[in-house]
Amino acid sequence: MDDLKYADVAVDSPVGHARSFTYLIPERLSVQPGQLVWVPFGSQTLQGIVVELSRAAPDFPTRNILQAVDPAPLLGREHIELGQWLSQYYRCPLFSALSLMLPPGFESHVRSRIFPVPGPGSESEGTGLEPREESAAAIATLGEKGRMPQGDFVKLLGRRGSRELNRLVEQGTVRREVNIPRPGVAPKYESYLVPAHSNEPTEGQLAPKQRALLEAVRQPPGHISLAEANREYGQRAAEALWEKGLVGQEWWRTSGGPPPMAYKGVMEEPGTLTLTAEQQQSLSEITTALDASYGTSHTLEHAPLPSRTFLLHGVTGSGKTEVYLRAIAHAISLGRKAVFLVPEIALTPQTLERVNAWFSERVALIHSKQTPRQKFDQWWDIRGAAFDVVVGPRSALFAPVENLGLIVIDEEHEWTYKQEESPPLYHARTAALELARRTGAAVVLGSATPSTETYYHSTRGRARLLSLPYRVAPSRSAEDGSPEPARVPLATVEVCDMRRELREGNRNIFSRELSQALRECLAGNHQAILFLNRRGSSSIVQCRDCGYVASCRRCTTSLTYHSAPARLLCHQCNYSRRPLSECPECRGRRIRQLGIGTERVVAEVGELFPGVRVDRLDSDAARAAGAAEEAVARLASGETQVLVGTQMVAKGLDVPNVALVGVVLADIGLHVPDFRAGERAFSLLCQVAGRAGRGEVPGQVFVQTYNPDHYAIRAGARQDYLEMYHHEIDSRRQLGNPPFNQLAHIVYQNAEAEACQRQAVSIADELKRRAASQGRTDVDVSGPSPGLPPRLRGRYRWRLLVRGRNLPEFLGDVDFPTGCTIDIDPAHVT
Ligand code: ADP
Ligand code: ZN
Repeated sequence: MDDLKYADVAVDSPVGHARSFTYLIPERLSVQPGQLVWVPFGSQTLQGIVVELSRAAPDFPTRNILQAVDPAPLLGREHIELGQWLSQYYRCPLFSALSLMLPPGFESHVRSRIFPVPGPGSESEGTGLEPREESAAAIATLGEKGRMPQGDFVKLLGRRGSRELNRLVEQGTVRREVNIPRPGVAPKYESYLVPAHSNEPTEGQLAPKQRALLEAVRQPPGHISLAEANREYGQRAAEALWEKGLVGQEWWRTSGGPPPMAYKGVMEEPGTLTLTAEQQQSLSEITTALDASYGTSHTLEHAPLPSRTFLLHGVTGSGKTEVYLRAIAHAISLGRKAVFLVPEIALTPQTLERVNAWFSERVALIHSKQTPRQKFDQWWDIRGAAFDVVVGPRSALFAPVENLGLIVIDEEHEWTYKQEESPPLYHARTAALELARRTGAAVVLGSATPSTETYYHSTRGRARLLSLPYRVAPSRSAEDGSPEPARVPLATVEVCDMRRELREGNRNIFSRELSQALRECLAGNHQAILFLNRRGSSSIVQCRDCGYVASCRRCTTSLTYHSAPARLLCHQCNYSRRPLSECPECRGRRIRQLGIGTERVVAEVGELFPGVRVDRLDSDAARAAGAAEEAVARLASGETQVLVGTQMVAKGLDVPNVALVGVVLADIGLHVPDFRAGERAFSLLCQVAGRAGRGEVPGQVFVQTYNPDHYAIRAGARQDYLEMYHHEIDSRRQLGNPPFNQLAHIVYQNAEAEACQRQAVSIADELKRRAASQGRTDVDVSGPSPGLPPRLRGRYRWRLLVRGRNLPEFLGDVDFPTGCTIDIDPAHVT
């Protein structure tokens, strides 16, 4: 170890994406990969994570690591490698990829203060480096004040202040002191002074207080807390010893504080159900893979990833969760741990209860309502191996789980697994496979409506397909005496043709069938869910007579309406045309923009059925903390008779008394200008339909649409995944969309309209040139076209879509201008 004097550090700075910087490890520090450290970077002091140690001196001058933030490495080898992979693949700074895996609350930034240096050191000693005029004034102000925050001093220095500051520091005119803030969750940490391995101080080098403190530090037990040092010897003494390299400073975690969040719930005795033949078959394939990796016959080589990656395709209520839980139990029996990802914690209470019933105290639940302190504590407890199972949303994948044996991703098709708000724009499924590749863990992806990509992979040997084709009866004891549960039918789905309703004079938002069914449902004391898909709504243009939707011939995505000047625009390729005055299909003149809000539906229900208790659940209504859970609870308790909601109501709700589900307008989701629109509409229909008839009452589903012949509606009505899949995969192949190519979605933003467009065009040209010069005939650049929305928070947005193979490599060393966001494998392309 001794000659590993250099460290490659991922620095918390956007400079040079995906790269690390080399630093010298000073002798007083012992540094390991995965450790969080403070390093000088330009004129700043930044946090960094050590990714590698090396022996050979680089052929450029290096600076020293200043100190360690935490004495022990925070990340293991596998997580460091995952971070490196994420930063390469998703084009983000290495530090931000690695920080996904750090304990929450370490993101604090250092503050530096500047002090004047009195005496001869402040002269420029005939070097001819007289301070600039501004500098002289700034130094004078500093002298008056005694100390200043670095930022303020740099401002006084004027233009190129940071560079000037570095010069003044090197010259000894001013002194910089690094003030290291405590980790975000302060009370759990205490700072200690420890002896540093350095030369003895010479006589007279130390003030009496400093010498006394140094002796105290060197006494057994070999450390004293910084608080005590400051109290007994004065603050300046500790700082002086540290600056002279005679003591090191370390943060140690102290115990105490509230215990981490644990979910309490009651469930049936785990493991008492008799599995169906299909469940048994699926489970045994997974356990066989786990045994191969971790059983007694375990060799050090991991089995290839495809042989331990599973797609568990099962209709809603087919018993997938039961299979996950038993697979997790098996992994634990082999001494391994599991990560169980769910799309949205707030909406999956039943799943959580079952996980908890199986593994009780051994479950760590990560969720957004935890306080920073709870998250922080939980991170350390997970790292301390206090849990066997970590359950949570996409970020739970990065929990510091050692001995990982199994990753389960429930509802793997959900777009909540893709981080879209801030970089790294990773997909948890993609990242999970990379983590599994490195750890040897098995991966189970489960869904009633797998993403087209995942299903395709399962047909090409990249994942093993396991099927649960029947819904099982929740009542455990089968009447005929056989131990297996009975099969129950899925809810029936009826498609209501809204064109016909209109023709026959019904202008209401409810078809006659749906309002009749709603009346009967309420009369029978059952509950109903009315569902609206609202994402990216309102600007799609449709003929109300025949259901025709204006769309782009080339991209097959729907055109969106833009006012002033009024145009219909393709958001893929920027094709544009005049708005329609009549329908090109039927010559009808009732051309409308689509869009109904949840409020409107609530109001209509109130008018039709006065006195009925209607509740609303959409992202607006759910903004307040706990609001979504409360709405779900009100439905479960029977207080709510009709729940009106968006996508949020489609997930995980399991209320036996819900007998009716109405999809108020299926077309909105269908025509979002995104190639995944059909797939999503289908999956939503299946999910929504899965909400009805989960108890004794048979379920009824009504889907209202102006496009009853659309493939997604037809397949959705039959809940026939393969019908949908075959249609979808053919069109993906034809258009060169994933899984046949990768996509990269590039959005460029700029406050100036013209500059924005011009820059976007030049990015597109550059990429086209690049593809041509590399002979990359597979790469296709479409756009630029205006973003959706074209302007956001005062900044114009133009977008490009790149299609091709291995795009992270193709885009790897392209220098994108600031203002560009590059989204690899985007979940949405609008
Ligand atoms: P999914 O995850 O596919 O929606 P679940 O695992 O939640 O399905 O199962 C649906 C319901 O059926 C649950 O109430 C569960 O307890 C029950 N169930 C699952 N498997 C069986 C089985 N083998 N025998 C009896 N009931 C079962
Ligand atoms: Zn187009």
